[in-house]
Amino acid sequence: MISLGLEPTAEECSRAQCRAAGSWRIDWRNPRIHTGDRRKTWLACDEHVEFLRGFLEARDFPLEVAPLSESAGARS
Ligand SMILES: [Zn+2]
Repeated sequence: MISLGLEPTAEECSRAQCRAAGSWRIDWRNPRIHTGDRRKTWLACDEHVEFLRGFLEARDFPLEVAPLSESAGARS
């Protein structure tokens, strides 16, 4: 079974029904189900980065938010 979960395949905001291009990446983990250094990565547009961060913070999930342009480095 392949379960890469929510790994983004496009640079699109992870907020449901938002098709905007993500300009932030949120790396987070759920300590209850993710062991070791397993992480999920969400992308967020400017409008939803605070929503998604708040969603995770409300659950006490460790997370890191970084501008996508700095962390990706693969854009030209
Ligand atoms: Zn969005």
